[in-house]
Amino acid sequence: MSALTLEVRNLRTHFFTPEGVLPAVDDVSLSVGRGRILGLVGESGSGKSVTGFSILGMVDAPGRIVGGEILFQGRDLVRMDKTSLRELQGNRIAMIFQDPMMTLNPVLKVEAQMVDAVLAHSKVSRQQARELARDTLGMMGIASPEERLQAYPHQLSGGMRQRVAIAIAMLHKPDLIIADEPTTALDVTIQAQILSEVQKLARQHGTALIWITHDLSVVAGLADEVAVMYAGRIVEQGSVDAVLDAPLHPYTQGLIGSLPSNNRRGARLRQIPGMTPNLLHLPPTCAFAARCERLSQQCLVAPAISEPLPAHRVRCYHPTPSTQSSEQHG
Ligand code: ADP
Ligand code: MG
Repeated sequence: MSALTLEVRNLRTHFFTPEGVLPAVDDVSLSVGRGRILGLVGESGSGKSVTGFSILGMVDAPGRIVGGEILFQGRDLVRMDKTSLRELQGNRIAMIFQDPMMTLNPVLKVEAQMVDAVLAHSKVSRQQARELARDTLGMMGIASPEERLQAYPHQLSGGMRQRVAIAIAMLHKPDLIIADEPTTALDVTIQAQILSEVQKLARQHGTALIWITHDLSVVAGLADEVAVMYAGRIVEQGSVDAVLDAPLHPYTQGLIGSLPSNNRRGARLRQIPGMTPNLLHLPPTCAFAARCERLSQQCLVAPAISEPLPAHRVRCYHPTPSTQSSEQHG
């Protein structure tokens, strides 16, 4: 079997709205290996969640996967029957949603939900499952975990609920976790602790992880690889070191230029001027053209993705190493 847990090839997911066809995900290819973490980043509306939902077979009308393959441990999820797909989702693939109530059952105590998650996948006693549930809550930075186990979801704060939902996903010990911005609302210390636990789980259990975020500093601290989305397409992808240290796409360079850590010396946060294009009326040009400083005649035809450096891909005719430090301080 391939070492890749997930391989998405040329995925296209479109919404057939009354206003027209909206290509939310177009020609997205990515892969994640055992124990590896892929950060999927991009501004709001760039297609991150729809990519995650597509992998999970959770795209509903008016949306539909119109092209591509989603290979999970070598089997194509796009062409799999609903029953097998549901089985995989319950067992081997877990999603952590932006809204924890998508995972949590409002009428069950935290303990029951966590113990069920453990017992569904391991042959341990109820008492052992309880202890594991309590310890996992502790790992998530939850104080007095014994008391929290006796709470109903509505008795917990939003941040607490989100941590319980993450703990449940981890207790399932799936082969693939897709996490959709679950820590965005948490304070930075808690977020750092959760990311470190999640990373440990991935390494120890060989879980492949896709971590969706709009925050590049999360990717920098957590992920091995990164894919940057813009207007439904991946515009740059590669190892975190390569992409964050030497980004080639003007959009990635803009995002990195606006990272607070790059502004330690008091330089202004760099905003990328202009707006993301309306996906219902995408021009035939490069989707970034209207905001790009490197615009040329060529860019009037949308570029394909290419690999100018080994394992470092970019969707741009003019992939140029960043000159942002001179811009910032000039
Ligand atoms: P992100 O997660 O990066 O913020 P999404 O993946 O949620 O972005 O959305 C990508 C695009 O798909 C957006 O333009 C959004 O409006 C559109 N979209 C998402 N869900 C639907 C839907 N059910 N019907 C129509 N358009 C949708
Ligand atoms: Mg989203």
